[in-house]
Amino acid sequence: MSRISTSAEDVRWDLSELSPGAEEARAEWTGLVARATAFASGNRGTVAALDAAGLRALLDECDVVMQDLARLAVYGSSRVNMDAADVEANDLATFARDRVAEAENELLFLDLEWIALDDGPAEALLASAELAPHAHKLRLLREEKPYVLTEPEEQALNARAPSVASWAALHDRQIATLEIPFDAGDGVEPHSVNLLLSLLFRPEREIRLGALAALYEGLEPRTEVLASCYDALVGDRLGLDRVRGFADPMQPTNMQNEVDAATVDAMMAATVESYGLGRRWFEAKARMLGLGKLHLADQYAPVGEGRDFPWTEAVEIVDSSFDAFSPRLSEIFRSCLEAGHVDAASRAGKASGAYCTTVTKEILPLVLLNYTGRFRDVVTLAHEFGHAAHGALALERQTFRSHRTGLALAEVPSTFAQLVAADYLLEHESDPQTRTALVVDRLEQAMAAIFRQVVFARFEQRAYALRAEGRTLTPERLSEIWFEENSEYYGDAVELPEAYRLGWSYVPHFIHVRFYTYAYAFAHLLALLLHGRYREDPETFVPLYLDLLASGGSASPADLVAPFGIDLAAAGTWRAAYDHFEVLLEQAEALADA
Ligand SMILES: [Zn+2]
Repeated sequence: MSRISTSAEDVRWDLSELSPGAEEARAEWTGLVARATAFASGNRGTVAALDAAGLRALLDECDVVMQDLARLAVYGSSRVNMDAADVEANDLATFARDRVAEAENELLFLDLEWIALDDGPAEALLASAELAPHAHKLRLLREEKPYVLTEPEEQALNARAPSVASWAALHDRQIATLEIPFDAGDGVEPHSVNLLLSLLFRPEREIRLGALAALYEGLEPRTEVLASCYDALVGDRLGLDRVRGFADPMQPTNMQNEVDAATVDAMMAATVESYGLGRRWFEAKARMLGLGKLHLADQYAPVGEGRDFPWTEAVEIVDSSFDAFSPRLSEIFRSCLEAGHVDAASRAGKASGAYCTTVTKEILPLVLLNYTGRFRDVVTLAHEFGHAAHGALALERQTFRSHRTGLALAEVPSTFAQLVAADYLLEHESDPQTRTALVVDRLEQAMAAIFRQVVFARFEQRAYALRAEGRTLTPERLSEIWFEENSEYYGDAVELPEAYRLGWSYVPHFIHVRFYTYAYAFAHLLALLLHGRYREDPETFVPLYLDLLASGGSASPADLVAPFGIDLAAAGTWRAAYDHFEVLLEQAEALADA
């Protein structure tokens, strides 16, 4: 009997493979921490003396413990994400967070002792066949070595973590507690920042213009505090960079993404060169909406009324589009559905948005959605299963330690899956309004992922440079560089209201992870390039692509895409990605001028 359901409401997570229940999970946690402790006390201090086979055995044993940790941690967080009001689940998640910290502290010795080895013996070990499955991640750990300080120094730095985190918490609280009065048609009501932002997707222009104006009016009184939080965090990060010896404020993020500065520069420079493509769409969209010029509030105005897609049709679309690409992908998709690893419908208390999480080598990934039947939800379903296919194939071939990639690569398979599903939809959809909505949505998603995120990263570069010169990041200075960077992108094609100067003030990425945003641009452009290669020569492409997925995080992004003839450091690579972007743009422009 198939467990593929006919309605999204019936599609719920079955977490029994992860744990039979909260009580059993607690008991298992206690045992697991004891196992991690025993593992550490039995092996601490031995790493330097191990040969390749010995180190391999230790890493493999650690891999098993890490998977049990992951399984129980995902069980706890998934229970909460299914129902935030579930007291038992919340207690378990709190309990689990503490146990994860305890167990991870126990396992830490392995990485530290590995980093402590001299280069000669470490290189000899890395060259051995035994360590090949772990080699790349082991190399990455050693790349951090020059920036790691002595243990007491690291402990002293760690001791500041809570007070540094309170700047971020203050920023989050300032945004989360903001209640801005606005009338969206039902009388004046308090609106959160997120609610006002969601109104920018409404068809009524008055509501969009009003929501944007209200947002910045509401943020204005808080900008002094918001800027002070950012100033403190940027100052702290620059100070840490000096102590650790990082040459550039982007270097820690680049290292996490496993891309070098030259590659990021080439990608960002090609993007700035291509800002004009974005402006071409804004001009076309103004024509579509019957406006002389687009206002910033019209940026996400809906174009075309897409029809609804029942759950079974969404499943059919993703299944068929994946199957046409490679039966392997649709097999993973159906296996996840049949195993109860998809939670589809929106419910009160359920986490918002959509995500995919891997669990272990034995257990398929879990996908959470908030499926409402809009065509965009179908695209999201494909996106999350791009992640799931990546996770499942990587876990099949790699060690647990080696399955995960940095963000820059992680968003490639999901974006690619989205493009494959959109192709399929456009090939089969006959409703003209839905086709219009699809073509426009595909382009606007690309623009939001690429241009906007690069504008964000360029704003950050200038903010860090100002602060490094010893200038305080005041609201006035931040507003100025924000407006300049945005004006360069939007140009004359979009009317930017004066109040948009405060656009920097609520972006959480600036506060939480510096230069986080460029990875989205990187991944989207890379997915467009790969998609172009697929369309040119599917027969050669598909096996190489499945190999890329199964490689997980076992090599750097540059090495992983080399088999496709893609050189990430070459400026021509990124310019070629914009040729593919231009095809999407031309399809959308054709609709505007039809
Ligand atoms: Zn994603």
